[in-house]
Amino acid sequence: MSLDDLQSKNISLEPHPVGRSKCVARNSFTAGSTILSNLSFVDALLPSEKGHRCDYCHHHAGPGSLKKCTGCASFYYCDQTCQNKHWKSGHRKICKTYNSYTSASSFQALDQHKKMDALLLSGLVARVALLDVNERNSEENQAFLTFQSLLPGPMAAAAPPINPKHSFSAEFIQNLYSRFENNNHTIHSHFVTHAHGIFPLASRSFNHSCMPNAGVKFVLQVHEPVKMEIVALRAISIGDEICIPYIDPALLQTRMSVFDLTYGFTCFCPSCNVIRKVGNIPEPPKDTPDFQAVCKRLREFVGTMEPSPLFTGDDSRFPKDLACVLHESFISTLSEQFSAASHDGQYDVALDSSASLTALYQLLYPPNYPQIGKYFARTLGNQYSFYHLIGLHFLEKAKSCWNHSVRSTPEVSTVTELERSIAAAREVLTVIGNEGDPDNGPLVELSTLSRLYQRQ
Ligand SMILES: [Zn+2]
Ligand SMILES: [Zn+2]
Ligand SMILES: [Zn+2]
Repeated sequence: MSLDDLQSKNISLEPHPVGRSKCVARNSFTAGSTILSNLSFVDALLPSEKGHRCDYCHHHAGPGSLKKCTGCASFYYCDQTCQNKHWKSGHRKICKTYNSYTSASSFQALDQHKKMDALLLSGLVARVALLDVNERNSEENQAFLTFQSLLPGPMAAAAPPINPKHSFSAEFIQNLYSRFENNNHTIHSHFVTHAHGIFPLASRSFNHSCMPNAGVKFVLQVHEPVKMEIVALRAISIGDEICIPYIDPALLQTRMSVFDLTYGFTCFCPSCNVIRKVGNIPEPPKDTPDFQAVCKRLREFVGTMEPSPLFTGDDSRFPKDLACVLHESFISTLSEQFSAASHDGQYDVALDSSASLTALYQLLYPPNYPQIGKYFARTLGNQYSFYHLIGLHFLEKAKSCWNHSVRSTPEVSTVTELERSIAAAREVLTVIGNEGDPDNGPLVELSTLSRLYQRQ
């Protein structure tokens, strides 16, 4: 799809007072509806995913079940279909020299991040070299034109060495690379990153907000390229600007310097405006009772606020004594507490940190922000996860009740907290919908948990 086709997609790019353009809704969208789909132009799996996912469609397969490319023995596919499609879209140019390229000292000397850039840039150059110049209107050519229309980032890092032998000038390669830092996306399944990719149309269309009204998800389908979908997180009216988050808004201190250095803009979203007004953000208290007191105060405040002052931009409603919860170390301390306690089976402590974390997320994020889903997904994501354990714990308690006919009911507050968490998780995860790998997603985990819980 080209930029011109956006019009037919109920959105359009319009002039922005300070930025380049903005994406405006030409129709209304309900929460959960798809605003735009964009196929991956080029992507590369993280090294840890190699051999576990198909290099073309990213299908996650059991050990040894993917078919290895006989040319390089370094790319893996579901079957011949995925292999052929990948071959035609670039692997043909890369295969023969892939191993000598990645084992060369010039590649090995790069840091992880730059290695990923090098692989993506190699994939991009291979793809561009294979474009049919006679098919100017083909989807691939249009996608590349859109990529070239992206603004370069403010930092001018030198392009890493690339794989295929090519006839492009160094200037052309550097020109492509200048659009990397600020335009590439991480690709995630169930909110866990497994690859990086280039999605030109989405990059060209949406500005950033720390209180975005749309989120990004990825749909994985066997034999198909990875598809990015931009999803409305809440109702969007005609004329509203549609924004997505470029980085996690919970990175409250780093986000502003990232906007400045990587993207070259200043964010004037309601949340950033309030944070600038709050001014100096103190560190949260080190000692446990004082830290707990801040948590309690945060939960009380969030219980009465509707909606978050960071959402409305009303700094007068932000309690000055809670400034330390805006310190990045507050969220990391709470997350660590939660993980440690749930791992050790200290349910009371874990539930308490979970309630504080939930309150913090409600303060920092707009309604239905996928990060909240991500948080629940992370805790629900494996079978020994906290809520599963809690569910099993209740189930065990219920069983022992039954067996011994003794009263062994969990605390009322614990049950309420669990019910609230399940409801909150369901609401957010339903809006973002199915994403990533088709099986065992957080929504499935949630149903399992609900069943366990209802049986206790
Ligand atoms: Zn595949
Ligand atoms: Zn190969
Ligand atoms: Zn902002």
